[in-house]
Amino acid sequence: MKNQTSPFVFEVGTVLRSGLMEVRQLEGDTPVRIGPEMIAVPEGAPVSVEARLNPLGDAIMVDASLDAQLSGQCVRCLAELSPKVHLEVQEVFAADEDFIQGEDAEEAEETPLIEHDTIDLTQLFLDEAGLNLPFSPVCEGECEGDVPEPDTEDEVRDVRWAGLEKFL
Ligand SMILES: [Zn+2]
Repeated sequence: MKNQTSPFVFEVGTVLRSGLMEVRQLEGDTPVRIGPEMIAVPEGAPVSVEARLNPLGDAIMVDASLDAQLSGQCVRCLAELSPKVHLEVQEVFAADEDFIQGEDAEEAEETPLIEHDTIDLTQLFLDEAGLNLPFSPVCEGECEGDVPEPDTEDEVRDVRWAGLEKFL
C-alpha cells in the first residue's frame, strides 16, 4: 500500500490543534480493491473522498463519503456492469490510548487511533462496501439472463429494434 498518495488518508493535526471543523476532499487512485467478489471499485481506479473532520478534544469524529465507479459482472448474463457508487462512513479516531480507556471495553477495541497526525479511512470503506454492495449483482432492468432461449428471442428483439430505429 502506498499510503502517501492514498485518497483515504487525511492529515488531521491542524484540526486537532485548532479545534476547528474542516471539510477536505481528496482525489486519487485507490490502493486496494473495494468491494465483494463480483463487483467492486478496482485497485488503481480513481476515487473521490470528502471528509468532514470534527475535533472532539483528544479525538476526531469523521463523516466521510466516497464516490467512484464500480466494475463488475452480472451473475446471470455476465454483462459488464459499471454503475456509480456512493458510500458514507462515520467514525471516531482517538488521539491516544487514554481516550479509548474512557470508553467501555467493547467499543475500545474498535476505536481506531490517529497515527502521526493522520487517519486512514481505508478499512471503513472496505467494511461499508462489504455491507452495501451486492454479492450477486445483476443488470438493472432487462437482463439477457432472464431469457431462457436467447437465439429465437434475440431475433424477435432485433426485428423490434430495427422497427424502432426508423422512428429515431
Ligand atoms: Zn444481466
